[in-house]
Amino acid sequence: MMLEGKVAVISGGTRGIGNAIAWKFAEQGANLALIATRDSERNKKAVKELSETGRDVRLYICDVKDPEQVVSVAEEILADFGTVDVLVNNAGITRDNLLPSLSVMDIDDVIDVNLKGTIYLTRAFVRSFVKQRHGNIVNISSVVGLMGNKGQANYAASKAGIIGFTKTVAKEYGRRNIRCNAIAPGYIQTEMTAALKEDQTNEIAKQLPLGRLGQPEDVADLALFLAGDSSRYITGEVIKVDGGMYV
Ligand code: NDP
Repeated sequence: MMLEGKVAVISGGTRGIGNAIAWKFAEQGANLALIATRDSERNKKAVKELSETGRDVRLYICDVKDPEQVVSVAEEILADFGTVDVLVNNAGITRDNLLPSLSVMDIDDVIDVNLKGTIYLTRAFVRSFVKQRHGNIVNISSVVGLMGNKGQANYAASKAGIIGFTKTVAKEYGRRNIRCNAIAPGYIQTEMTAALKEDQTNEIAKQLPLGRLGQPEDVADLALFLAGDSSRYITGEVIKVDGGMYV
């Protein structure tokens, strides 16, 4: 069990990549605080199913772009679980368009959720990590943050920002036994990417060295490695899970 008895916070942990990470972590012994925006039936069901692994899994409602909500949810999680060992900043959104057509709201929402949300949540937990002299942060960036992508200026900027943030946290807190790494997924099949038609996804798959689109589990396996002790000498890294898209 790679995460036996550990407590992990996963933003956006009820669906997509975050949910796959939650399953990997639960299967490896972690108790989970999952953050989502809604107390929906679907989110409650996701928590119930994860609880059937025998772990303590709880749902917390919080909009990560709201700094006050983030501070209070972090306090609530720390009070409920007593400690947090791993933070996965996974919550993210897209509002795609070519630059002149991006509204101010499209720009602000994406930067606020993806980048500021990551900064707010990390800031909210880092003090407890320092106090307990350990902590592990895994940020979900994107290959788009490394290579750019037409129609995703706001998103690419937010994901590139996460990389600078990750490296800074790694430098600021490495001496306190706190690690911080980023994952840069390529094209992963989730609701976020569901808008593309089958012929479009087939075309993308054909261009990839591994010849297929990614699955949430492909990302979750790396998240587990980074969250566990097998990666103990790795910090400040950005690791791609992209089927070779960037090569
Ligand atoms: P999904 O759209 O499937 O899930 C997004 C999750 O984020 C949901 O659980 C959602 O919660 C949560 N979320 C969204 N906004 C907020 C908010 N303001 N506060 C709290 N939680 C929020 O996305 P994916 O699983 O595809 O993506 C997960 C991460 O991976 C994102 O950061 C994305 O940018 C990144 N990524 C995805 C890629 C892909 O191809 N899919 C590629 C590269 C990176 P709720 O259910 O309440 O809405």
